[in-house]
Amino acid sequence: MLLVQPPLAKHAAWTVQHAAVLTRLVGDGDDDWQLTADISHDSFGSFCLFPSTDVDEDLAYAFIKLWQFNRIKACGENMSATLKSYQITRFRLPLTRTIGDSQVRHDTIFITALELYTQEGEVGLGLLNSYFFPPQPELVRIFEAEYWDALKDQPIYPLLHRLTRPRGGNNRVLLFEEAVNQALWDLYGKDVKLPLYRLLGGTTNRVKAYASGLDFHLTSAQVHDFYVDAVIRGYTAFKVKVGHPDLAWDVNRLREVVAVVGPEATLMIDANEAWSPKEAVRALHAYRDAGINVYWIEDPCLRSDFDGLARISAEVPFTFVNTGEYLDLRGKRQLLERNAVDVLNVHGRVSEVMHAAWLAAEHGIPLSLGNTTCEIGVHLAAALPEVEWLENSLIGWDALVADPIKFERGYAIAPDVPGHGLRLSEEARAEFTFAG
Ligand SMILES: [Mg+2]
Repeated sequence: MLLVQPPLAKHAAWTVQHAAVLTRLVGDGDDDWQLTADISHDSFGSFCLFPSTDVDEDLAYAFIKLWQFNRIKACGENMSATLKSYQITRFRLPLTRTIGDSQVRHDTIFITALELYTQEGEVGLGLLNSYFFPPQPELVRIFEAEYWDALKDQPIYPLLHRLTRPRGGNNRVLLFEEAVNQALWDLYGKDVKLPLYRLLGGTTNRVKAYASGLDFHLTSAQVHDFYVDAVIRGYTAFKVKVGHPDLAWDVNRLREVVAVVGPEATLMIDANEAWSPKEAVRALHAYRDAGINVYWIEDPCLRSDFDGLARISAEVPFTFVNTGEYLDLRGKRQLLERNAVDVLNVHGRVSEVMHAAWLAAEHGIPLSLGNTTCEIGVHLAAALPEVEWLENSLIGWDALVADPIKFERGYAIAPDVPGHGLRLSEEARAEFTFAG
C-alpha cells in the first residue's frame, strides 16, 4: 500500500494523479513505501529526501519522474516508450523574401519532418531543413535502409544514451541523424511529462533573441522594411550579412540598418567566411572608424583557420569572434583549445549541442544558438547557462507547426508542455507537402 499524505494532498487532483503513478511504480502489496517527505535537489539530476511539512510540487513531480525513469531503466523489457512506426513528410516552403549571405542565396526552402510513433501512440517530431532533399520515396527508402532497423521496437532511452564509435565509413553526417535525435528527445519529454528545456536542466523558459535578416541580397528598401518590422516586434539585437567585395557596400548596408534600429541596439554581423584574417581585421576597423559598433563578427574567415581566427580575436578586441557553426564537435574542441573563438556557435542537434556546451563551459566560453528549424533550438538555448543569444530569422517556417515558438519583446519563450511542443499543422501538411 502506498500512502501519499499531506502536504502533498493539498492539491487533490495532483495528488490523485501522482499517487496513481507511484502506486503503479511501487506495486500493490509493497507496504514499505510512504511519501511524506519534502523533496529538494540542487540540480535536476540529483535529489534527496528531507522530513518536512512543505513540499514543492514541481520538485516532487520531477522526483517521481526520475524515479519512474530509473525504474524503467532497471526493467528494460517493460519500457513504456518503444518505437513502433514512423512517418516522413517532405515540405517545400516558399519564402517571403530571398535569404542568403555573401556566398549563397535562396528563395525556397525544403523541410523534412520525421515523426516517430511509440507503441502507445505518442509521437516525437524531428525536423530537417535544406535547400534540397531527395523526393519523398527516396527519403523513405534511405530511412528504411539506414535507420529503421536500428530503431524499430527499441525503447527510446538506450537510443538516446548510446555512444557509437566514429570510425571509417561510419564517421559521416547522416541524413536523418538530427531529426531522429530531436524526435527521441521529444518522446523522452513526453514520457516523463517535462518540457524539453527542463529535461535538459533549464530553470527558465526565456532566452534573449536577435532578429537576423539573412539580408545580403535584399534591396535597401527591403532591408529597411525587415528591420522596421523587427523593431516593432520588440527586438533590440539584430544581425546583418556582410562580406561584399566592396568594403564601402558593407559600410553603407550597416549604416542603413543602424538608421532603423538605432545606435544603441546590439549589432551582430556575419561574413560567412568571405575574408582572409587580414581582410577581416581591416573590415572591422573600417566599420569602427565609420562609427558602427559591432558586437560580434560571425565566421570572418575559413572555419578551419584556427590561427587566423585566434589572430582576429586578438587584433580586434572590441568585437567578439563568433564561429563554430560549420564545424563538428572535434572542430569546436580545436576552436576552444586554440583560443580561436569568443562565442561558440551551435545548432539544433540536442545531444551534440549538450556535448559542445560541456566543452565550452570548461573553457569559460559562451554559446549562441544559430537558426534551427521552426526555432526548435529554443529549448537548448533556454536550458544552457552559456547560451546568451538565440537567432530568429523570421523566414516563415512557423507555418508548418500548429503552435509556433513565441517571441516576446526580444525574448524567445520555450513552450511549457511535455517534449519540445512542436507538432505539424494538418493545414500545413495539406498545403506544403511536396513529395517531389
Ligand atoms: Mg552564420
